[in-house]
Amino acid sequence: MKDIIVVVGVGIAGVTAALAAAKTGMGVLLIGNEGNAGGDACTGMPLLGTYSSRGEKCVGGILDELLAICKTIPGGYIGPVCDYRTVYGLCVSPSAMRLAILLLLKKYEVNLLLNSTVTDIESENGKVNAVNVVCGNGEKRRFECRSLVDASGGGNIVKMAGGNVLCGDANGNMQPVSLIFRMAGVKFEPFLRFIMENPEEALLSENPVFETDRTKAAELLYRSGYPYVALAAQGKLLGKALQKGEMYPCTAMFMTPVSMQTGEICVNSTRIAQLDASCPETASKAVLDLAGQVQTAVKFLCSRVPGFEKAVLSSVASRLGVRETGRIVGDHTLSQEEAVSGKRHASGIGRGAHHIDIHGAGTAQVRIPIKDGRTYDIPFGCLLPAGLENVIAAGRCISSDRGGNGSARVMGTCMVTGQAAGLAAALAAESSKDNMRGINIDVLRRRLTEQGAIL
Ligand SMILES: Cc1cc2nc3c(=O)[nH]c(=O)nc-3n(C[C@H](O)[C@H](O)[C@H](O)COP(=O)(O)OP(=O)(O)OC[C@H]3O[C@@H](n4cnc5c(N)ncnc54)[C@H](O)[C@@H]3O)c2cc1C
Repeated sequence: MKDIIVVVGVGIAGVTAALAAAKTGMGVLLIGNEGNAGGDACTGMPLLGTYSSRGEKCVGGILDELLAICKTIPGGYIGPVCDYRTVYGLCVSPSAMRLAILLLLKKYEVNLLLNSTVTDIESENGKVNAVNVVCGNGEKRRFECRSLVDASGGGNIVKMAGGNVLCGDANGNMQPVSLIFRMAGVKFEPFLRFIMENPEEALLSENPVFETDRTKAAELLYRSGYPYVALAAQGKLLGKALQKGEMYPCTAMFMTPVSMQTGEICVNSTRIAQLDASCPETASKAVLDLAGQVQTAVKFLCSRVPGFEKAVLSSVASRLGVRETGRIVGDHTLSQEEAVSGKRHASGIGRGAHHIDIHGAGTAQVRIPIKDGRTYDIPFGCLLPAGLENVIAAGRCISSDRGGNGSARVMGTCMVTGQAAGLAAALAAESSKDNMRGINIDVLRRRLTEQGAIL
């Protein structure tokens, strides 16, 4: 079958877009410059933005199909877990998620081209005709397409096609990069007991819809049995280690459960700020420097934190964690105000739920909850790059201001925009519309609702 929809980027947004498009029966080619598909969804980090802070599910469709497979794999699924701070994170085994993604890509006959980089785009008057690719072995390929999805994380494809991309704050500062790692053999009960007896050691009760008494929140966390804990820099334990130089500066050590059976957790804490991760030399140097931080963090956890005495390092992420690079300039820009106020839109293609979450240098981090712990709509226009016709964006590069992006960048919301972009690309190709703006938004919304993507 001819590949008429090309999706670039094998992170969670690209995977979701490719699956949504392929489910319509269209030929889909998914191109990525990594050696496997799934991106950060296969690191062990919780899928945020899948539930509101009130615990209401707000993402379905492809996500549900992936979870259905994870649930069949022993130890593959934990479920939505509350951190009694500000979110419900959907915790899934990263290995089960990897399998689920690969199995679904095969089931829906997505043509997968790994280790391959899109180097340039052939376009005329805002309409893309073909993409040029260099494969891992140096061979060059050319693929014609009717619709193109940019799920490259930083809007690289939109930029190549002549669209505009913005980066960072007014001074070009972007969020720090991190290297995620996991530890197994952690004893959850003593760890959670320590937090319950010392609630000042964790970030708790930040969202008004949660228990506001930190002592009670720590008790609830203990009773849940899930080690969804942000060990705080202002606590004595981590604070002292920071003062003594035993730890690198970080806001918190964000820990989430990965396996209840093997006592495995995912740790998000390393960070290097004030760099541009879209520069290959900078990103490569950052990985080398972050490896030292992982070593430092593992030593700190095992020597200082109750429950970690016999824990072992079980995994280091295969890719650098990039929170922020480019955001496309689109027909609509999702603003921080729209997200925080829970704004509804007639052209909404799904919902975001995560707080505004902007990590800074050192111990800095901005966290602003969504009103009443609910959700906001993502207008279709956020996916449409201004000046381009048959191109659509998905994932963390959607059109948003910096605050809006600080919320919409999380994986649950990347899946929302991925699913909508993939389906829109298929609808445009199906109806021979050269311009994404020509598709019927009501039909798109109805189909997304039927698929359980808009909840
Ligand atoms: C440290 C860290 C912690 C986070 N914590 C969480 C969390 O706990 N929960 C949560 O839900 N979210 C979290 N996030 C956010 C979330 O993981 C990401 O924003 C999300 O995974 C981005 O998905 P994406 O598919 O849009 O982009 P990416 O995952 O960046 O994928 C884009 C892909 O496109 C590829 N690509 C780019 N250009 C080309 C090209 N020219 N040709 C071919 N391929 C190309 C890239 O190499 C990459 O593989 C975190 C992010 C970081 C970095």
